Amino acid sequence: MDEAYNELRWNPLIGAWIVVSSKRRGRPWREGVCPFCPGAPETGFNWRVLSLNNRFPALRLDARTSRSSRDIYLVKPAYGYCKVVVETPEHQGDLDSIPFNDLKLYINELIKETRELCSDPNIQYVMPFRNKGEEIGVSLIHPHSQIYALPFIPPRIQVEMRNMEKFWKERGECLLCKILSLEMNERERVLYFNDSFTAFLPFFAMWPYEVHVYARRHLGCLCELDEKEVEDLADAIKVVTSMYNNLFDFSLPYMLVFHQRPCKVSADYYHFHLEYYPIHRDRDKLKFAAGIEWGAWTFTYDSLPEEKAAELKAALSRGLEKLSSSGYRIKGKAI
Ligand SMILES: [Zn+2]
Ligand SMILES: [Zn+2]
Ligand SMILES: [Zn+2]
Repeated sequence: MDEAYNELRWNPLIGAWIVVSSKRRGRPWREGVCPFCPGAPETGFNWRVLSLNNRFPALRLDARTSRSSRDIYLVKPAYGYCKVVVETPEHQGDLDSIPFNDLKLYINELIKETRELCSDPNIQYVMPFRNKGEEIGVSLIHPHSQIYALPFIPPRIQVEMRNMEKFWKERGECLLCKILSLEMNERERVLYFNDSFTAFLPFFAMWPYEVHVYARRHLGCLCELDEKEVEDLADAIKVVTSMYNNLFDFSLPYMLVFHQRPCKVSADYYHFHLEYYPIHRDRDKLKFAAGIEWGAWTFTYDSLPEEKAAELKAALSRGLEKLSSSGYRIKGKAI
């Protein structure tokens, strides 16, 4: 018998749920055969973008707990969804090289999934994210993202909500709209903008080459993007990713997360944005969340963010040049 447990355990010290899963169920992928290419058992043919259920989900609808809660040791079923979004039928590439039309379909797929998953009464939060590169533990190279639909609002989003709400109440404006206007005034850290999105290395970056992409209009989630904004988001993603891949002489590993407001809270103060966290601090050095970063949640930044922004600006112009010589029509401007 296949005894698998998927449970949430409460960490009372930091006040956060930990998603615990024992033996992961499911057959392993067939060695040497890409499970995301067209024609694979789960993908079939005639698609450009595809959502699949993760075969080894940490969260599941039929989650079972291994024990019951005891005193302050709280246990709950890890109810939820873990999905994979295959971004293109092409086996290789990154968000800068997959066809632009597929990129738009990809964003529309994230919108559709966010809507559907949020409509489950037990789901509180939907987070699409993308991990790229072996250094980040990604073994399948076929371009794909993941979506976790959680039965709680994750701590980092709660912290952002708290600060955005506080600013909204005290200052009568949105924190991220404010940051956008400060960045556009200073321009030193702004990398690229089009009609609907602005990409910049934040004043308060934690990772050396961290980049945020903010919607220029105040909106709360993927579901609120209009058609033009979907197109502009695809453009911003393509350009930022190409910038990263032209920073060094290799394709840069990164994590990309979509931060949107929760499903069941109106949170008018929340402002939709993307955050990219590459893990390099130099061409041949990685930045680790080590003792002080992980043990204290205090990040150290070993240069000035403005210096790293200047490096990214140079990479951006190389990236833009390559994109236009490949025939892509760039929608925005570099700064
Ligand atoms: Zn493939
Ligand atoms: Zn705003
Ligand atoms: Zn955020």
